[in-house]
Amino acid sequence: MKYLTEFRDGELARKLVAEIRSAVTRSWAIMEVCGGQTHSIIRNGIDQLLPPEVELVHGPGCPVCVTPVELIDKAHAIAAAPGVIFCSFGDMLRVPGTAGDLFQVKGRGGDVRVVYSPLDAVKLARENPTREVVFFGIGFETTAPANAMAVVQAQRLGLSNFSVLVSHVLVPPAIEAILGSPANRVQAFLAAGHVCCVMGYHQYPALAERFRVPIVVTGFEPLDLLDGIRRAVLQLEAGTATVENAYPRVVTFEGNRPAQAVLADVFEETDRAWRGIGVIPRSGWRLRAAYRAFDAEARFDVSGIRSVEPAACRSGEVLRGTLKPHQCAAFGKECTPRAPLGATMVSSEGACAAYYNYGRLVDLGTGRIGSAGAVACPA
Ligand code: SF4
Repeated sequence: MKYLTEFRDGELARKLVAEIRSAVTRSWAIMEVCGGQTHSIIRNGIDQLLPPEVELVHGPGCPVCVTPVELIDKAHAIAAAPGVIFCSFGDMLRVPGTAGDLFQVKGRGGDVRVVYSPLDAVKLARENPTREVVFFGIGFETTAPANAMAVVQAQRLGLSNFSVLVSHVLVPPAIEAILGSPANRVQAFLAAGHVCCVMGYHQYPALAERFRVPIVVTGFEPLDLLDGIRRAVLQLEAGTATVENAYPRVVTFEGNRPAQAVLADVFEETDRAWRGIGVIPRSGWRLRAAYRAFDAEARFDVSGIRSVEPAACRSGEVLRGTLKPHQCAAFGKECTPRAPLGATMVSSEGACAAYYNYGRLVDLGTGRIGSAGAVACPA
């Protein structure tokens, strides 16, 4: 298949679903790690096509959602400082911190700007030499290479007024943390295709073997996802636990070596706190000493901020796959995309936003979206 429409072909989708149905003999829980995959699953109704034995569990792969509230609060403090131009991707502006969001900081006079690339922030720093330009560098292995390149570019240009508030997190340690949890019930993973495009999938065989879980590298189109689920189910039913690449048009075993080289040059591994999950050892990146001059946390005094999570928000459980969004009492009531309590309702990759935006009818009894007897999700 060469064209996008072919990956949305209904006839092929029905064949894949039939294969899944004929293979299943018992219940299985499969986690799609990436929030982009969660949105594709809910938007395309893939979960509704599956037999009831196959449950999709939504994972923590939404970069906006897992950015800890402490870092959001630090972002707000830096953005409010005089002389600062604070640059961020749009999703972050509405993520609630302890005392509001970046829009409110902007409303109080902070110079907060949405950029579409970290290089836009570097450009702003060149154009505004008397201002401090700070970029909010969040994300998984997918966005990190561009952020690393921005730091390299700033160093080449000799910019002393550019820095990055780094909040990079890594997928394999998160999978390891989920599998190592006593509460874990995930039996197979759909690994995020875009992360593997950068990093390859050479890190996964050891995980699959150690925890005896099938891991299938999976894309984002409906047929990609159905094929990934089919392969996971076939492995689970056969009792095997290997790594398969169901996204070979994009992903290789080694990944993108030049991108990995720039990442290794700029970043080093560090323990990272994940919002709603806690600290996962060696699950993130920070700037290496050679680039520490571009570290916004070192440049601005943002220590000593007291951060508080909204008590009603259960996004930590959503991100760990132990709670479905509509099972949160605030879903669609106190918490909506217009008035979110948690990042999972704000982000374009958040599971709560996926359920709200595409699952207009949720059966609270079965948890299935759009099924018979469904009740209307409150708008
Ligand atoms: S519905 Fe809102 S309050 Fe509930 S877990 Fe999701 S973001 Fe948090």
